[in-house]
Amino acid sequence: MLDLRELYQQVILDHNKSPHNFRELVDANRSAEGYNPLCGDKFSVYLKLEDGRIDDITFQGSGCAISKASASMMTSLLKGQSVEEAEALFGKFHDLVAGDTSPDLEEVGKLAVFAGVKEFPTRIKCATLAWHTLKAALRGKGDHVTTE
Ligand code: ZN
Repeated sequence: MLDLRELYQQVILDHNKSPHNFRELVDANRSAEGYNPLCGDKFSVYLKLEDGRIDDITFQGSGCAISKASASMMTSLLKGQSVEEAEALFGKFHDLVAGDTSPDLEEVGKLAVFAGVKEFPTRIKCATLAWHTLKAALRGKGDHVTTE
């Protein structure tokens, strides 16, 4: 069993303190709001989609360190990626934090810092909130998602 302190690796703390792409995207053509009532995490994800590619991606809102760091890292990794690549990475990330089998850590890259989340079931929804919100944004504008 992991110690809870080990879950909060430095990279997570750094992203929480200075999140990347933390702003509203004025020329977004997709957005969604996500809410995790278990923890109180609430984020909006903004996308500028062009020809099936994520031209720009930002987020805003508030939440715990895990949810904010996850959103921050997600936006950094997905900028410039295709929708298919984004969905594939979400699949691997979901396996990493909640799946029965773990993906190859090399395939998830920097997201590997969230591997410890699996041992803390109440934190899984924090880690995946931004990704579920992204999925809603990809489906259409103005969706609201909740983890419950
Ligand atoms: Zn949380």
